[in-house]
Amino acid sequence: MKRTTMPKCTFCQQDHDQVERLIAGPEGIFICNQCVERCLGLLREEKPGESATVADDINLLPPREILAALDEYVIGQQQAKRVLSVAVYNHYKRVLFHASDAPDVELEKSNILIAGPTGCGKTMLAQTLARILDVPFCIVDATAMTEAGYVGEDVENILLRLIQVADGEISRAERGIIYVDEIDKVARKSMDNPSITRDVSGEGVQQALLKIIEGTVANVPPQGGRKHPHQEFLQIDTSNILFICGGTFAGIEEDIGKRIGARGQIGFGAAAQQQDTSHTTLLSHLAPEDLMAYGLIPELVGRLPVITCVNPLEQADLVRILTQPRNALISQYQRLFALDDVELVVEADALESVAEMSLSRGTGARGLRSILERGLMDVMFEIPGGEEIRRVVLQRAVFTEDAQPLIYSADGRKLRWTEDGRLNSAA
Ligand code: ADP
Repeated sequence: MKRTTMPKCTFCQQDHDQVERLIAGPEGIFICNQCVERCLGLLREEKPGESATVADDINLLPPREILAALDEYVIGQQQAKRVLSVAVYNHYKRVLFHASDAPDVELEKSNILIAGPTGCGKTMLAQTLARILDVPFCIVDATAMTEAGYVGEDVENILLRLIQVADGEISRAERGIIYVDEIDKVARKSMDNPSITRDVSGEGVQQALLKIIEGTVANVPPQGGRKHPHQEFLQIDTSNILFICGGTFAGIEEDIGKRIGARGQIGFGAAAQQQDTSHTTLLSHLAPEDLMAYGLIPELVGRLPVITCVNPLEQADLVRILTQPRNALISQYQRLFALDDVELVVEADALESVAEMSLSRGTGARGLRSILERGLMDVMFEIPGGEEIRRVVLQRAVFTEDAQPLIYSADGRKLRWTEDGRLNSAA
């Protein structure tokens, strides 16, 4: 039999236009919001004291514990970590509260904006939070988005990605986290800052984002792509999805500095003049008005009430990033080598030079991996199936003088490299 194009609730037979929500199950089965509520009521009656809420499986920890968990992965960024721990705790408390009780006080969603230099942990913070809370997570790039009807990624596809990460479970996707990267790149060209050229479609993208951020029931084509008039679609309510927007906001410190300075002229002069005007300090004063002056539309700024920033990473931070976090890069390589029965030793001054090189590239911690990869490339070529390598020592000269790492055999013999980067095991 041919499938009907207008989906109906399999339980009460009401069709899509008669109910608020219609949730798709496998093989053409649907359930409407009313039937879900009825079922929930039944479950609650059957199990008094046990609330069968859709949000039961969120691993909600108090802010202190969220912070401790973030500390295991993210180096530094203490202010951002504290702010995020509280914001995320409040967000999911709100989700649980809504799901279990009829609220008489409407709690508003606290979406988050993180500003700060590239490669310093903005995405990582969002991703780690999702991992700690065990909620679906996806990253979207604001610059790849378009207003509906234009070429590019539209908001429905973003929601589809979240649904896919949630293994098709819409209710899980509805409490996931979406990280919107490069939000600063879709700021409209502002009169306050004409030196920054912006995409003309920037404002349209902000409007499209605003819709899903403030909460809407979106119709998502299950196969992605453009909507088709008679296509069946998934409905997803975005009102409990947490949006974390990140951006570098290059040059925004000037706006902040001006604002703080301007206030100084109307009475806070002494305080303003004593301000440390370094990049980091100025950015920590980031306020909604600066974001608007930068070109984010006020409605969007209004929906991002939690504002925080990450600081540039210093060389010592980069050394710590190499070795300390769970899943640190050096531990990853050591594990990789151990699988081939090889011990990898990285000397302290080698770590320093990797950090120094990465710092000079100005891409935060982003450069660390490729620098290490380059230093270890020939060794990683030689080890598998190769001769008797048991120990690799990565010393400073590998990075400063393009030398090869020191290689030792099981009996402690030092193996030599040929001129063209091959191991000469006979030597
Ligand atoms: P951003 O979003 O700020 O541009 P990312 O979070 O994507 O930067 O960082 C890029 C990579 O650098 C991360 O995947 C992580 O490996 C590393 N990294 C960046 N900042 C930190 C940090 N503070 N602590 C640990 N690792 C970090």
